[in-house]
Amino acid sequence: MTRAAEPLKLDRLDHFPDKLLGAEPCDILGVFPNPTLITLAGEAGPPLWVTTLLHGNETTSFYVLRALAAKYRDRPPPRNLSVFVGNVEATAAGVRYLPGQQDFNRIWADGHSPYHRLVHDVAEIARAECPFASIDIHNNSGTNPHYGCVNALRPADLNLAAMFAPLGVYYRNPATTQSIAFSSFCPAVTVECGRSGDEAGIARAIDFVERTMRLDRFPDAPPSADTVRLYHTLGSVLIDPECDFAFGGDTMPLNLRSDLERLNFTDLPADTPWANVHHPVSPLRVVDEHGNDLTAQFFRRDGDTIRLRCPATPAMVTQDRTVIRQDCLCYLMEPL
Ligand SMILES: [Zn+2]
Repeated sequence: MTRAAEPLKLDRLDHFPDKLLGAEPCDILGVFPNPTLITLAGEAGPPLWVTTLLHGNETTSFYVLRALAAKYRDRPPPRNLSVFVGNVEATAAGVRYLPGQQDFNRIWADGHSPYHRLVHDVAEIARAECPFASIDIHNNSGTNPHYGCVNALRPADLNLAAMFAPLGVYYRNPATTQSIAFSSFCPAVTVECGRSGDEAGIARAIDFVERTMRLDRFPDAPPSADTVRLYHTLGSVLIDPECDFAFGGDTMPLNLRSDLERLNFTDLPADTPWANVHHPVSPLRVVDEHGNDLTAQFFRRDGDTIRLRCPATPAMVTQDRTVIRQDCLCYLMEPL
């Protein structure tokens, strides 16, 4: 039997372990040897669900967990609280997920692996509790403003996202994320808290969880457009895997503008330059969620310069070469 076929154990606790206080992400297996569901009785129901550490190298949620443990060690939270602690092995190793594992935020739909079965059980426990709301806490690998992702355009989901940050993203693909699964039975948001270790992101996430616990109900009306600016994804930008590239300079086959990462969530007009190329075929490609090639719709070649053909908003631009090669350079968005 392979390691991956063994059932995964879910530990259940009704308190935060004392060992969590003062622990760091690398210590986590001494605190949570397995994925764990902590259920805390609070002063009101239904519970707020908080999901942490689906990605082991995104540590903001660890510090939120630690802050909650310190605050609610000897007094009940203002609302029942259920906290799922996800990929503890990857957290200990400081990676998104380990070789042989699955991405813990791509397993919340039908599937037969032990990872799918584990989170299926967690989601069924949650569904039975009719949560007040669900918050899943993540980080970006590039420099981005803080934003919340929603999967339903209901007033409660939009108000939840607006409580976190004035910037939101609506998506339905990938369909295998925690927040898509939970949005089928409660208001749900994924919060992106900047880079791991960003102190402002940690503080904002802790404050957001606190304020959501203390909220009695969500407004019936959606938030106004000046409270939260909402985008949706048009496509992702890929770099030809054969093409060498750099940010800045002019000596590589593809030279992306050096300030591209700072343009995250900036609405760019048509004709904005993106890169200089010394390559017969343009090495930037845009594909939509179904794999359709949209390059000609978004980019045009102007001599050695690649420019936007139409207005677009880049998001999640990263300079991390591994992320660029495994995932993409960035997404192109437009306001909803
Ligand atoms: Zn993540």
